[in-house]
Amino acid sequence: MAKTFPLNDSELKDLVKKVPTPFYLYDEKAIRQNMKEFTEAFSIFPIFREHFAVKACPNPYIMKVLASEGAGADCSSLPELMLSELAGIKTDKVIFTSNETPASEYQYAYKQGNIINLDDITHIEYLKKALGGKLPETICFRYNPGKAKHGCNSIIGAPEEAKYGLTRQQMIEAYEICKKEGVKHFGMHTMVASNELNTDFFADTAKLVFELAVEVKEKTGVRIEFADLGGGIGIPYKPDQKKVDYKEVARKIRRMYDEIVVPAGLDPLAIYFECGRPITGPYGWLVSTAIHEKHIYREYIALDSCMADLMRPGMYGSYHEITVSGKENAPKDHVYDVVGSLCENCDKFAVQRELPKIDMGDLVIIHDAGAHGRAMGYNYNGKLRAGEYLLREDGSVVEIRRRETIEDLFATLDLKGVEGFKA
Ligand SMILES: *Cc1c(COP(=O)(O)O)cnc(C)c1O
Repeated sequence: MAKTFPLNDSELKDLVKKVPTPFYLYDEKAIRQNMKEFTEAFSIFPIFREHFAVKACPNPYIMKVLASEGAGADCSSLPELMLSELAGIKTDKVIFTSNETPASEYQYAYKQGNIINLDDITHIEYLKKALGGKLPETICFRYNPGKAKHGCNSIIGAPEEAKYGLTRQQMIEAYEICKKEGVKHFGMHTMVASNELNTDFFADTAKLVFELAVEVKEKTGVRIEFADLGGGIGIPYKPDQKKVDYKEVARKIRRMYDEIVVPAGLDPLAIYFECGRPITGPYGWLVSTAIHEKHIYREYIALDSCMADLMRPGMYGSYHEITVSGKENAPKDHVYDVVGSLCENCDKFAVQRELPKIDMGDLVIIHDAGAHGRAMGYNYNGKLRAGEYLLREDGSVVEIRRRETIEDLFATLDLKGVEGFKA
């Protein structure tokens, strides 16, 4: 499907007069609509909630939009917990799916009443100690199915090689220990894929979790009250891919629910997701200006942004669709490497891509950058990360994060007491 952008060429040119490129633009209306569609699809379960993976787009304005559509938050660090709080997402609507977590962060999550999802069996003792000798009323464990789950893609890798979660045997033991310790409510979590488009995959994952929940009940008497199926629902980065049909995912998981959960007397079992990518990914764009062209062994177009703004292509070789504002229907009769300004040869947004002829000053739009985009950025080479703007439902555009400044970059330098740097 052809990729769209919410502003036409003249609207974008007007915006660029006020907001210099590069910047991220998010579409509130589209984010809202998609979140509604997601929630609606899973309304076939007695209890359902999506906990937005904050790492995908850690901006409280956007999280607030999602929260107003019923979303909770999935966090893995103290700042993410704080951002959720800031966005008005509180208590058990926040799941703390962290790993290798410092005691202070568990203490904070506990104090806020967030759900703690433990990544290892040894973390029971660790958490207990961190909380002064008691465990929270609710605990969740992350299941790593190891070789029981295959066909996983390259971002997460084979489960048995992944650092996350507990083995099947440890899961049983962990619930047993927590029951003895007086924990009252239990959840089970797993996440074994990333950017998956095949709907069968999520039904398989649900099956593994549901079956283990039944086994836990039989062996320990612990009743699992919620199954958190993680994130991992993919988006169609490439124009020939199709958006995941949320209703189909829900239906396939519901079939497993009816076959496994209901007969075991575990109904109602709340179904949770912690998706990031499909929630905001397609509704955020990185807008840049073409500032250089090079004609050497290949044709290059250089943008005023770089890998520090959007790492996915450089880091994973990921495909992101690129369009040129005002040239959406022009013939793609040129082949370019579209690059950024880092001193790293992997700083390429696209390699050997067929595009319309790009002229200097053209506004170049990188699509599907609304999740794991700005968030993954960094300051290598002294690069300043782009700001973020929200296109609101009334058509106005608001700044939701300003562009970084040199002062931001230098703010952590501490040169007091270093000879020659007296302020
Ligand atoms: C990254 C992550 C997510 C979100 O993944 P998406 O691909 O953005 O949906 C959810 N849960 C955990 C534990 C994660 O690490």
